[in-house]
This record gives sequence, C-alpha cells and structure tokens, in this order.
Amino acid sequence: MKRFLQLLCIGFLALSCTHTTSGSLSEKEKMIINASDSVMYVLNVFVPADSVVLRSQCADFSDKELQSKDFKLLCDKMLATVNAPEQGGVGIAAPQVGIKHRVIVVCRMDLEGEPYCVYPNAHIDSLLGNVNLGPEGCLSIPPYRGNVPRYEGVIVSYKDPQTLDTKRDTVHGYTAIIFQHECDHLDGILYTDRADSVYVNEEWAAERSHYDSLGCYKRPKFLDE
Ligand code: ZN
Repeated sequence: MKRFLQLLCIGFLALSCTHTTSGSLSEKEKMIINASDSVMYVLNVFVPADSVVLRSQCADFSDKELQSKDFKLLCDKMLATVNAPEQGGVGIAAPQVGIKHRVIVVCRMDLEGEPYCVYPNAHIDSLLGNVNLGPEGCLSIPPYRGNVPRYEGVIVSYKDPQTLDTKRDTVHGYTAIIFQHECDHLDGILYTDRADSVYVNEEWAAERSHYDSLGCYKRPKFLDE
C-alpha cells in the first residue's frame, strides 16, 4: 500500500502545465497503434514507466490526424480492448494504451443498447448538479476500487472525425461519471486523486489472477524501446 501511494504521489507531482495543445502522434505512438495485437496492453499505474504516461497531459488530435488511418485503427483497438473479457471496462482513455492524445471510449449506459462510443478531442465544458460519492474502478489500477465524488451531469465537447465539427452532449447519471473519469485520464488525473477511500476488490483480484495465468496482461517489450 505504501508503494501504491508513493507511485500515485510521484505521478501527481509530475503534473505540470495543463493547457491542451495539438500535437502529432510520435513514432512510438504510431508503433503502439500499429502493433499486431488487436487488443492493446493496458498500462498499469504500478509499473513506473506506465505511471509516467498515465500522468501525462494529453494533446488534441489535429484535423489531419483525425482523418488518418492511425486514428481509425487506434479507435478500433481501444474498442476491442475495453470490450475484451480480461478487461470488461465501461470506458477507456488513450493514455491507458500508451497514447498521449485526447480520445476516450465511453459505454453510453443512458442510450438504448448501451453502445460504446468514441469521443475524439473530448473536453468537459461544464459540470452540472450536485456532487455525489460513488464507487469506481480503473483498468489501470487493478484490483482496487474507491469511493469518488462526482457531479451528476456534464456537458462534454468533442470533434466529429468525419465532419470535423465540434459537437456537444449533455449527459447525466452513471454515464456522466464515466465521462468525468475518462476525461480526467486525458489530464493525467486518476480517480485515486479524488477518492475518499481506496480498497482492494477481491472479486476483481480473483478474476485478474485467472486471466493473468493465461498471459493476458503481459507488458509488450516494445514499450521500452
Ligand atoms: Zn480509468
């Protein structure tokens, strides 16, 4: 637990200037996106090199990049990753797969069929309603959960990669919590920074242990090249 808190503190101190700029995908990011696996490795806060990425401020995609093959492939792979049985999340953000750019996948629990939707260049424009405490977990912080204060609603803006128009959506309920959690990732913030308590989830620990024995969480060597 002490090491856990140390890693979180180091990462939090690494947060610096938080304005968002547009930046090109690096060669390393392109390599991560174009690696052969369709399900991506999810960065883990307990791995120091991963923690640095998870604590990064993410840049917006340029219009040209939003219409690139790399961007489309990244979205497809993030969708496959959050839906993989060994992950089974309700959302994922690009830094969790090693990409320091603003795109998130959110399970729209407020829409019919609960589809997973992609939001490029996502930003929370407004926080709405009261703040309530509720349980959260994060694919990058297994097998913990925590009680986190979140607003009841959000207005989120994002860019449509086809038309390049900026769109806005007002979301309430649990989906609004997912948006707050995932947009925090794009600013290098983890739910544990906001949680009033963090605890091990035994059920998740057992599930992780099963998939770990199958080699599902193996960290690819190319991340350190
Ligand atoms: Zn998370």
